[in-house]
Amino acid sequence: MNVLVINCGSSSLKYQVINSDSEEVLAKGICERIGIDGRLVYKPEGGEKEITEAAMPTHTEAVRMVLDALVNPKTGVLKSLDEIEAVGHRLVHGGEKFASSTVITEEVIKAVEECSELAPLHNPANLIGVRACQEVLGKDIPMVGVFDTAFHQTMPEEAYMYGIPYKYYEQYKVRKYGFHGTSHSYVSKRACEMLGKNYEDMKVIVCHLGNGASICAVKNGKSIDTSMGLSPLEGLTMGTRSGDIDPSAVEYIAKKENLDFDGVMNILNKESGVYGLSGLSSDFRDLELAEEKGDERSKMARAVFCYRAAKYIGSYITAMNGVDVICFTAGVGENDWGIREGICEYFGYMGIEMDKELNKKVRGIEVTLSTPESKIPVLMVPTNEELAICRETVALVK
Ligand code: AMP
Repeated sequence: MNVLVINCGSSSLKYQVINSDSEEVLAKGICERIGIDGRLVYKPEGGEKEITEAAMPTHTEAVRMVLDALVNPKTGVLKSLDEIEAVGHRLVHGGEKFASSTVITEEVIKAVEECSELAPLHNPANLIGVRACQEVLGKDIPMVGVFDTAFHQTMPEEAYMYGIPYKYYEQYKVRKYGFHGTSHSYVSKRACEMLGKNYEDMKVIVCHLGNGASICAVKNGKSIDTSMGLSPLEGLTMGTRSGDIDPSAVEYIAKKENLDFDGVMNILNKESGVYGLSGLSSDFRDLELAEEKGDERSKMARAVFCYRAAKYIGSYITAMNGVDVICFTAGVGENDWGIREGICEYFGYMGIEMDKELNKKVRGIEVTLSTPESKIPVLMVPTNEELAICRETVALVK
């Protein structure tokens, strides 16, 4: 079965066509600058990447252009659109309503709309993608929604409740939800497969370290805690997000700078993290280079990132009463050896030992990074959210 996987943002739409039998990616790419001008990037399997500048006033034109590219007689990978049998959509926030992926119906769309208050930047954009696909492909094609939050719905109350008046949970559902669930689920499962262990018997810690970053404790195949919260702002120090800070700092900065809530939230989401600390960049490659050249603030930003990550890992080892494997994934986790080494150094006391030479050399592959003597294995497991969405989609529509 060929599945079109869509990850739709407010001005972009990432796509892949995956053959679910071979799990081969037939084509992939992105539509960017939707509503501004428009740019389609299309890369067929084994072929050259094509870039087309074309007007995309809305996501509907973007979906049309993707489909035209897929059936283009010269560079397309499909003979006709009938060869797409299902569409899998990444949906960000499913609130407490969705503890697993679901076939998209009008009721589901309504329920996701109701969760939009919890994810005002993401859910409406995700649904625009759903509507655009319905418009272009028709309403009969089966579509599945795969939620970033769903995997974490297994968290126990003591992990997801905030220490604030209970009525805010009752009235407004203020609680920890967690994100990157598709990635945490995929990576934790894959790590157990790599080790030849039974997923249901394992205590896994997944460090999804990208521009957005979160850590998850997976015990017996279930998420029991994760570092992001009501929104993706909680937890680790990220590319541009602050992660955990004392809420009093919000009030203090707002007063000093004469800012309203939107103003401070913008600083915490877009001007903080390693970008804010270094004053230089949110990209870990830039910070690594700057550190090598002696830039003290870049060094400090990277050290803060490692320290915060190590603190979360330590707390999750306690939460699970142990750990059987630690995994690194996503842009930073799969590429930045210094960050992996910096984090793992905190766990020497537990007998965790990295193979430092190997760790320096490898990028973006499935590999064990620890020495054979290490008490706990440390793995690098490239994430593949699109494949995970494809698998979920097939499971629900077959
Ligand atoms: P993601 O959000 O998972 O796409 O990760 C994006 C981030 O990964 C970028 O902002 C970079 O900071 C980081 N990254 C990507 N490639 C490298 C690399 N080769 N070395 C260090 N960091 C990288």
